[in-house]
Amino acid sequence: MTDISDTFFTSIGCMDGRIQSAVASFGKTRFGAKYPDTITEAGMVGILSHKPSKAILNGVKNKILISVKHHHSKGIVVHGHEQCAGNPVSDDQQIKDIIEAARVLKELEPGVDIVPVFIARKNNTWKIQELESASFKKTAHVLNLY
Ligand SMILES: [Zn+2]
Repeated sequence: MTDISDTFFTSIGCMDGRIQSAVASFGKTRFGAKYPDTITEAGMVGILSHKPSKAILNGVKNKILISVKHHHSKGIVVHGHEQCAGNPVSDDQQIKDIIEAARVLKELEPGVDIVPVFIARKNNTWKIQELESASFKKTAHVLNLY
């Protein structure tokens, strides 16, 4: 079980270890929550954005429900990144896949705040770029830099 002071957000994205601390610190700022519940696959947004199977969707949904119901998650960050081995596409396509994955997750969990982000490598650090989240349009632009 959790202590009353434990606060959570939900991280859904790639398993790549290089990006996890950037996502964790982004979520702390963006959601005011201390701990990320982390749901990963190699190239997660590539999977979610290309007609995922019911089994994959149910697995992700089950983890989201645990994060939301038991940890009272303050929101979901869905992320993709540069140099992704699991979803090896151009940055433009990666961003489209992130937005589409956000749309799929919104259908899965309409009541939860979902924030799509792209993570770019800049001088050996990984920088979060928050993408427009209002309507999950196909053409995303960078909203905020962290
Ligand atoms: Zn990756």
